[in-house]
Amino acid sequence: MKLPKTRFTFCPTCKKHTDHKVAEAKKKTRGSAHPLSWGNRLRPKLRGRIGMGNNGKYSKPPGGRMFNKKSSKKVDLRFECGVCKKQHIAGKSWRARKVEFKDVRA
Ligand SMILES: [Zn+2]
Repeated sequence: MKLPKTRFTFCPTCKKHTDHKVAEAKKKTRGSAHPLSWGNRLRPKLRGRIGMGNNGKYSKPPGGRMFNKKSSKKVDLRFECGVCKKQHIAGKSWRARKVEFKDVRA
């Protein structure tokens, strides 16, 4: 999906429409944002091997699991106001395989 690098849109700080730079917001997954607090406690790599015998899904070989099968990712956009340099995010995200930014007024 191709998107313009700049967009004339509303700035909540300036309370009017200004030119905004568009960038992709890199959203962290819950697991990477809180590596040891959420669902990762059983991972032998992070906490050392725990217990003996069956460690549930971590006993299985990598690959062939439920996750990581979608070919598209959710895209979040971030707008930086050209006047006040404040950033705000777009309200709505959607799915796309690939996002490119192109110059429109170059
Ligand atoms: Zn502004």
